[in-house]
Amino acid sequence: PRLISSEAELGESRQEVSLRPRALQEFIGQQQLKGNLQVFLDAARARGEALDHMLLHGPPGLGKTTLAQIVAIEMGVGLRATSGPVIEKAGDLAALLTNLNPGDVLFVDEIHRLSPAVEEILYPAMEDYQLDIIIGEGPSARSVKIDLPRFTLLGATTRAGMLTGPLRDRFGILARMEFYTPEELAIIVSRSASILGIPMEPAGAYELARRSRGTPRIANRLLRRVRDFAQIQGGGIIDHALADAALTQLEVDAFGLDNMDRRLLGVLIEKFDGGPTGLDTLAAAIGEDRNTIEDVIEPYLVKEGMLDRTPRGRKATARAFDHLRISVPGGAQG
Ligand code: ADP
Repeated sequence: PRLISSEAELGESRQEVSLRPRALQEFIGQQQLKGNLQVFLDAARARGEALDHMLLHGPPGLGKTTLAQIVAIEMGVGLRATSGPVIEKAGDLAALLTNLNPGDVLFVDEIHRLSPAVEEILYPAMEDYQLDIIIGEGPSARSVKIDLPRFTLLGATTRAGMLTGPLRDRFGILARMEFYTPEELAIIVSRSASILGIPMEPAGAYELARRSRGTPRIANRLLRRVRDFAQIQGGGIIDHALADAALTQLEVDAFGLDNMDRRLLGVLIEKFDGGPTGLDTLAAAIGEDRNTIEDVIEPYLVKEGMLDRTPRGRKATARAFDHLRISVPGGAQG
């Protein structure tokens, strides 16, 4: 992967980019965060300063990259986007920082994956807008200080707990992204449908919304797939019946759980009597990476009250037992 992506490359596809809201007003949901951010933006602008460094944490697809773009647009500054794992050496970060214009936003996705050597460079850069670098090796090595323009570091992470204390402490704004309500997602998906020119009834939008795991990225993805069904098998319009049938065909169940969700719960219930089961054991049993389980699958199951994370491991709740009995043929029945 490249060190920097241009604004146009931030999405997964060109269409994805066009669906991104570009102003804070257009950004649906996250009311508390949005309200605070509006104040911080107005205040920084009034003082003619860069926005304080901000850390966004929450599951993937909730709008962290979108917010970074909005911050840059609202502040009238440039945006540079990169991610923790692609900044391999201290020099990579130094190159990024010295190329910033005053006020620019540097977006670092997966910031918890920065190497310790790179993090070390970041501390004085964030705190004093200074770069402390060592030039040369051995006896002739010397340390050089370079002044940087004021900039805003916007870090994103799926789990705030994975950030080191010193890095976390250097962010002036810490914000948590929450899952979206079906009502909010219905607005998002209706907006997307009108941008893409897809005819959709409100009941169809709501059905899509409530089965999208509280996540705008998933809602937009399902919208495109459901549109395909509407086009080929329906009358071209996404109404409630079509959305329901298409989502079922796409293996998104009535609760909005997908294949992976049901697989995790199913294995937990059938193989381990509902747990508690350690994360690594569970990962091996379903053949999924433990980070994916923790970052992508579990947060929504926990939020929906299907899964408990206990000190002794993961436990399926009564609700999960109930749910799987209904929807998985042969699973945990009787
Ligand atoms: P993250 O960086 O948290 O993984 P993104 O910012 O890439 O998530 O958001 C994924 C997609 O979901 C975006 O392309 C955007 O179209 C949509 N999206 C996210 N949040 C919102 C929102 N609040 N309102 C409208 N669309 C949103």
